[in-house]
Amino acid sequence: MNRSKNLERLENEQFDICIIGGGASGAGCALDAVLRGFKVALIEKEDFAAETSSKSTKLIHGGVRYLEQAFKNFDFAQLRQVRHGLEERHTVIRNAPHLAHPLALITPVFSWFEGFYFTIGLTIYGFFAKNDTMPKAQWLNKKETFEHIPTLTPKLHSSVMYYDGQLDDARYCLALAHSADEAGAAVVNHSTITGFEKDSNGKLVAATVKDNIFDKTISVKAKLFINCTGPHGDSIRLLANSTQEKRLRPSKGVHIMLPPEVLCSQDAMLIPKTKDGRVVFVIPFEGEVMVGTTDDEYRDLDKEPILIEQEIDFLLDTLRPYIANVPNKSQIKSGFGGLRPLIASSGSKATKKLVRDHEVEYDETSNLLSLLGGKWTTYRLMAKDTIDEACKLLNKEAECKTELHYLIGGENYNFEEWRNIQEKYKLEEDICQHLAKKYGTRAKNVLEASDLTDRIHRAYPFIKAEVIYTVRYEMVNSLRDFFARRTRLELIDWKATHSSVDTVAEIMAAELNWSEQQTQANSDDYKKLLKNFIQSANIVV
Ligand SMILES: Cc1cc2nc3c(=O)[nH]c(=O)nc-3n(C[C@H](O)[C@H](O)[C@H](O)COP(=O)(O)OP(=O)(O)OC[C@H]3O[C@@H](n4cnc5c(N)ncnc54)[C@H](O)[C@@H]3O)c2cc1C
Repeated sequence: MNRSKNLERLENEQFDICIIGGGASGAGCALDAVLRGFKVALIEKEDFAAETSSKSTKLIHGGVRYLEQAFKNFDFAQLRQVRHGLEERHTVIRNAPHLAHPLALITPVFSWFEGFYFTIGLTIYGFFAKNDTMPKAQWLNKKETFEHIPTLTPKLHSSVMYYDGQLDDARYCLALAHSADEAGAAVVNHSTITGFEKDSNGKLVAATVKDNIFDKTISVKAKLFINCTGPHGDSIRLLANSTQEKRLRPSKGVHIMLPPEVLCSQDAMLIPKTKDGRVVFVIPFEGEVMVGTTDDEYRDLDKEPILIEQEIDFLLDTLRPYIANVPNKSQIKSGFGGLRPLIASSGSKATKKLVRDHEVEYDETSNLLSLLGGKWTTYRLMAKDTIDEACKLLNKEAECKTELHYLIGGENYNFEEWRNIQEKYKLEEDICQHLAKKYGTRAKNVLEASDLTDRIHRAYPFIKAEVIYTVRYEMVNSLRDFFARRTRLELIDWKATHSSVDTVAEIMAAELNWSEQQTQANSDDYKKLLKNFIQSANIVV
């Protein structure tokens, strides 16, 4: 991925489609459109998956709770959405098996009746997943339950185990953008759409784009603009046509990160009911345990939705009835918050009841197409619906090709390749496994890019060569791009991230030609941000 070359293309070429926003929706649309033969530009304000798409619960699922709601409320739209999610699990895993895999989830229950209820519910959930090879739901007795998660409370009666998928959301999004780039799309990050140029009929003909790295403004011409800015969707809709009404009701969800001893398991736990009537997941992620999420309306979209103290209390309280030794605040290593791009169907609904489905909206006045709402799980179907609509508007007949399209690093992937990497490069096992899982068939390219194979932080498998590789080939332009999205250290351990900043900054400075002053300023800014996270959560790390 070559940012300068792509920026040059943005300035000099005329595109069929210009996609605004490089999250799951935008990157998914870019890949779909370029595979159908369109000339595509993809423009992202910060970094690929910088917002919601790197801050999800990382599940590829139909949504157990949505199934329950669908039955309780006779809501067929909700049921359709569950079915779509379950059907897509298989495709999401197939196309990038290094970044997504099946995950067993255990639901502890406290009576025979509860066990019966969840077994029926989760068995029905499995029925909706046709063409799926995941194991079916199973009622486990107490002994079997403890074999899966030994840290649960002895008060439980039994548990129900079922399967969904799990993905590394940020790297999956990068793989989509990277695959679109390799297929011919002009993909750039750190560039903001700040305005539009219109023809005499009010239709969009060009976008004003600010390159946030070199502080330069360019104009990008396209026949069709597609708004994929997630929770910011209304700002682009209104920029294109100020007479439109707002459609989105963003809702904040946070996760906290705890040490692996909380679960001592490769399996996850589903807490079926919280005080406010939702579900909470306790999931192994990157060697740690992630707990989330919350669901609260959020209005200040210009401010990052970071973790606050009360949210930690809520999540720890929710864990209390399920874990024998409930962790305390001092064990929290980090946390993160994201905004769900929910569509407001009727004014007074609480955000937890708003349907997580998507909508492709066409504004005839400006000719803007907007992809609103949705979930990570269904990103490919959302992109298909959007590009089907683009085909109609641009008068092109072309079939969607993404269902069987491997993403970068996914084709011929075999996890066992880590052993060959180990034999050739004589690295420790955890480092080789990490490289295989995160870069797939391109793991060796990381080691070919540099012989700096020592660890960035002694407790984690990330190595210095990854800084060089991700700057050169994955469009890393800032410390946060590297720590939060190419690797996930910021999400799992604030203290380790803070102490690794200078090491990474030094390597990055040489690659990106930062001056000494720039390097210092970038390190200081990022450390300040991390301190702000720690203060806002009011924890000691
Ligand atoms: C807490 C939480 C948990 C979730 N868990 C799950 C889950 O487990 N499974 C699941 O399927 N879904 C989950 N979701 C939903 C899923 O994460 C989102 O639906 C999805 O990531 C949204 O992707 P997006 O591309 O629409 O939005 P985003 O990821 O927010 O992308 C929009 C992008 O647009 C960019 N942008 C904004 N304005 C501009 C501009 N002017 N110019 C250029 N770029 C711009 C932003 O920087 C951003 O990167 C969860 C969501 C949350 C908040």
